Amino acid sequence: MVSLALVSLGGGDGAPDAWTNMRIKVLGCSGGVGPGLRTTSLLVNDDILIDAGTGTGDLSLAQMRRITDAFITHSHLDHVCGLAFMADNLFDLIDRPLRVHAIPETLETLRTHLFNWKLWPDFSKLPDEQHPLLTWHEVEPGKPQRINGHSLTAFKVLHTVPAVGYALESKAGTFAFSGDTYATDHLWQALNALPRLDKLMIDVAFTDKDAELARVSRHFTPTLLGQEIGKLRHRPQLYLTHQKPGCEPMIEKECRTALAGYEYHHLHRGDVISL
Ligand SMILES: [Zn+2]
Ligand SMILES: [Zn+2]
Repeated sequence: MVSLALVSLGGGDGAPDAWTNMRIKVLGCSGGVGPGLRTTSLLVNDDILIDAGTGTGDLSLAQMRRITDAFITHSHLDHVCGLAFMADNLFDLIDRPLRVHAIPETLETLRTHLFNWKLWPDFSKLPDEQHPLLTWHEVEPGKPQRINGHSLTAFKVLHTVPAVGYALESKAGTFAFSGDTYATDHLWQALNALPRLDKLMIDVAFTDKDAELARVSRHFTPTLLGQEIGKLRHRPQLYLTHQKPGCEPMIEKECRTALAGYEYHHLHRGDVISL
């Protein structure tokens, strides 16, 4: 049986020998910014990022240097802005590139609209083209890849721009992150195809009152998630994320009814998900 441990990090980062097989630190999980709120970014052990929102701003330079790979769910600014500042910080500090992985549509948007010399320098050509700070790597949904001791697979979800979630499998269990998504059978089919699913981090961005806004912006509400989650054949611990700032108390209240009978936790910055 996999432990459902979720602990607040407190002050320290813990020694490597204290890690379980997978240790996912929530750098940010809010739908916006504000005191204590950061946007989506997860640090897996100390070397993989999943998304690079404003949560990356809490990493020290030493922590940033240890990151080898960043897997991006989609191109929205709340999930990618940290790449821009990290690349700038890492100038002169790393002697190998930070590998940025995403579906082709996301990479295209990053290259055309962010790292385009106008909004931000093109760090895939700096300090020079032979020694770039960032390199781009396409992920193919449904195709597992080995990365730093884990197996990682992207799966398609439904958002206002092309988007994926990621499943991370280790010996100790499987963690999946939906990224930003609305209800779609792609999500449930991909998750149901996993041999096991111990922990699922999933979008619940808006209150039921904002169901129409959630529909057009392609995010879940508590009631919609409660209806859809029955399509999942696994019974993972749920970690709820991306709440719109100011709406957290109402979302929590609505989840008590919508997700009654499910084990769930409203994620906060600094939480650690262990497998
Ligand atoms: Zn989004
Ligand atoms: Zn988002």
